[in-house]
Amino acid sequence: MIDESTVLIVGAGPTGLMTALELTLNGTAATVIDGRNDRGVRSKATTIWSRQLELLDRHGLAEPVIEAGTRVDRITVSTPYRRLGTFELGELTTTRFPFGISIPQPDFEAHLRLRLRELGITVEGGLELIGLENTAGGVCVALRDVHGSTYERHAAFVVGADGPESSVRAALNIKFSQYGPDTTFAITDVAISGTIPPRDVGYYYSTHGALGLVPVGAGAFRIATGIPHGADYLGQQGFREALALRAGITADLVDLPWESHFQVKFRHADTYSMGRAALVGDAAHTMSPAGGQGMNTGLQDAANLAWRITEIVSHSAEPSTLLDEYTQERRGDVKRVMQTSRLLTRFGATSTLSNRIERELLSAAVRFTPAVRRKITHRLAQLDTRYAPSRRSFGEKSSLRPGDRLPDNLPTAPHHAHRTYRWTGSRSTPHLDASVAHTHTLNATAVPDDAAAVLGKKPAVITVRPDGHVTSYTALR
Ligand SMILES: Cc1cc2nc3c(=O)[nH]c(=O)nc-3n(C[C@H](O)[C@H](O)[C@H](O)COP(=O)(O)OP(=O)(O)OC[C@H]3O[C@@H](n4cnc5c(N)ncnc54)[C@H](O)[C@@H]3O)c2cc1C
Repeated sequence: MIDESTVLIVGAGPTGLMTALELTLNGTAATVIDGRNDRGVRSKATTIWSRQLELLDRHGLAEPVIEAGTRVDRITVSTPYRRLGTFELGELTTTRFPFGISIPQPDFEAHLRLRLRELGITVEGGLELIGLENTAGGVCVALRDVHGSTYERHAAFVVGADGPESSVRAALNIKFSQYGPDTTFAITDVAISGTIPPRDVGYYYSTHGALGLVPVGAGAFRIATGIPHGADYLGQQGFREALALRAGITADLVDLPWESHFQVKFRHADTYSMGRAALVGDAAHTMSPAGGQGMNTGLQDAANLAWRITEIVSHSAEPSTLLDEYTQERRGDVKRVMQTSRLLTRFGATSTLSNRIERELLSAAVRFTPAVRRKITHRLAQLDTRYAPSRRSFGEKSSLRPGDRLPDNLPTAPHHAHRTYRWTGSRSTPHLDASVAHTHTLNATAVPDDAAAVLGKKPAVITVRPDGHVTSYTALR
């Protein structure tokens, strides 16, 4: 039941469930409602990337998700005739998860729900939010149950995790601006006979259109391919032809179990919060499935928002600064992710001479410049999420800045609380001022080289927020 000290999460999709997990582990009471009683069995998202595995590990969920899913080792971009670029996830540094995991979205959600149940939280289905008003020190909401009865309740904070048609966003009158035209995709998950790399996520571009291929286990693949708006169902034959023309793959599809068409819009909320209500996931942003980033960005929203809500609700912090920063950080990051999604589409476009030239230049940069390849791979795995206020200047010595993500391959347990590290420096273990409050010592001998390079040469005290981003970095003499 909702009471005035509860955080009400509207929507039990992946971002709503993740927000509830983050809050609960921070000791903040959360209630999750959903207008529907079931979420359906069709998978939308298929892939969880490295950064999200890091976040899930804080809830003991990385291992079960990895076990239940199919490992993805690389992302490839090709035309039907040749490979344009390969992004090896194994080259990712500073993470314990240098790979992605393909898992059907309903199975992933089942893991989140199970963990929540273990923590004593169940989703109240059949309860829809129909109105919301910010009041002094809280939020008043109007709810409707499946019998049509309506209720008024008060909550300490409301999180709108209610998808692209968000009622929370509408009630707050937040604009959902659209960028670029709609595109329509046909998708299916189907067993394919033929030699298709079982651990590659492939994006293919041709003059006939784009096609994505994601392994979903047991020899089956998600096929997603662009189609004209209002097109007829492709059927088995249509998908087979799309594979041949767009990806240059001649293969037989073993029984088409289902086919679904959906329209994609790039849309972005102008702000992610107002008063004591905030948006996460598709309620705040929607994007093309190119790159498989949509759900993943929602999970990062949840981690970034939840600790702020705890500060506001449990420690009486002033909401405006914390929530303005939430919008600023997440909106900026989502914008970058959207740009990558667009770049992936542009990367393969072949229609005009300038597109072809741009593609050849990009392809050469990816093949011959490891730094460019690494940058894009980190971006696709969402490991480059960085909330630093300004860019590093050229040649600046590497050391952490506020907002940077702390390397995840440090010899410490996964955390979801504020914490302080004492870094002994890359060379020695000097004497450090005993007055420095610290909870964990990071000794160079136990820190992998790639992480040590990020931590910097000098000894330092590093404070870190619950979502794993640096709050302060103080180099010590
Ligand atoms: C075909 C397809 C393929 C995709 N592939 C990928 C991919 O490969 N990788 C990726 O990262 N992302 C992918 N996405 C995007 C991903 O599925 C979404 O980003 C993700 O589902 C968003 O989760 P969410 O929790 O924010 O919202 P949703 O999953 O939309 O959940 C919102 C919930 O809110 C409930 N709700 C709505 N209104 C109310 C209300 N007024 N009151 C109470 N409850 C309400 C709804 O019933 C629903 O259960 C894909 C999407 C589609 C459509």
